[in-house]
Amino acid sequence: MDQAKDFYDVLGVPRSASEKDIRKAYKRLARKYHPDVNPGDAEAERRFKEITEAHNVLTDAEKRRKYDQFGRAYQHAQQSGQWRSGDFDDFLRHFAGAGGTGFTVGGSFGDIFGDIFGRGAGPGAGRVRTEARGPRQGDNVEHELGISFEEAVSGAQKAISLTLADRCPACDGVGGTTQTCSACGGTGMARQGGGVLNLNAACPRCQGAGREVTGRCKECGGSGEVQRSRRINVKIPPGVDGGKRIVLRGEGAAGVNGGPRGDLVLIARVGEHPFFRRQGADVHVEVPVKFTEATLGAEIDVPSVRGSAKLKVPPGTRNGQVLRLKGMGIERMDGSGRGDQLVKVRLVTPDRLSRRQKECLEEIAAEWTDDPREDLPA
Ligand SMILES: [Zn+2]
Ligand SMILES: [Zn+2]
Repeated sequence: MDQAKDFYDVLGVPRSASEKDIRKAYKRLARKYHPDVNPGDAEAERRFKEITEAHNVLTDAEKRRKYDQFGRAYQHAQQSGQWRSGDFDDFLRHFAGAGGTGFTVGGSFGDIFGDIFGRGAGPGAGRVRTEARGPRQGDNVEHELGISFEEAVSGAQKAISLTLADRCPACDGVGGTTQTCSACGGTGMARQGGGVLNLNAACPRCQGAGREVTGRCKECGGSGEVQRSRRINVKIPPGVDGGKRIVLRGEGAAGVNGGPRGDLVLIARVGEHPFFRRQGADVHVEVPVKFTEATLGAEIDVPSVRGSAKLKVPPGTRNGQVLRLKGMGIERMDGSGRGDQLVKVRLVTPDRLSRRQKECLEEIAAEWTDDPREDLPA
């Protein structure tokens, strides 16, 4: 079991060792194996990480208690072949906060994890680092979507081009090349005067990550993001109204550390129409009607958003009267059918009459004996 050496053995202390003894043992070994003392020595670096892990766990009373408990359970299970060594290795890496790739351990490890990481971990401990490196969903992006009146009525398929933040392909979102932190030698711990490690504080240079970014990525200038034009197909449902939000899942900004993309939220801005005026699902229009049509009644052709429609003008229709064309409005987005078209009548009076027209009207006038003004005050 080279991958998972017993933490007590690593530090060379008995299981009954006091916290003070453990710290003392660690300092002694840390001085010996610190990467600064052994530049370029991979074995020393490995040993240094090993003792650091052991130290981090055994000097934390809660972690130590869990390790004591878990370590024995592990040994037992190992003998009966229940757990693979890889699992345990993963566990140890997270447990000691040496920086893993994510919570990939399943099964019975979950409870133990929850317990350990649910409690506050100290500065520079695994929990903090793991979260900072964990996958995170990209931001939601809001964008206005200009739609013509007609597109809003009938629905449409539209291709739009958007410039959105994407993970820089050159540096994979890191912002540059990384190397072992020069301040802490990869331990993630702060150093005090004389090269003594401060075992409780995170390294200020790398914030405890153990690696630092060197050399700015030329592609993204160090931000880790590039602006990329994306072509997105949008299906505009019929009946969409101004201010309506169309959500396209997973079309927003790129995720961080392998997280999913955010959403793209398109806010509809619907254009005006020179003739039709929209109010929700209803459409309002004003139509000129001859006074003869209005008086005698008629069936006239009027434009609607659904094409030409027949409108019955009942006899005796007055100026300004509103006639309704049922179901000739716009689709309601809740699926409850269509609105109506409301036609406001604008009476048209001829300003020039032929001789014959005049004679006819004079005959009508002579016959029109009741006075519409008889009720007015004198
Ligand atoms: Zn880059
Ligand atoms: Zn550092």
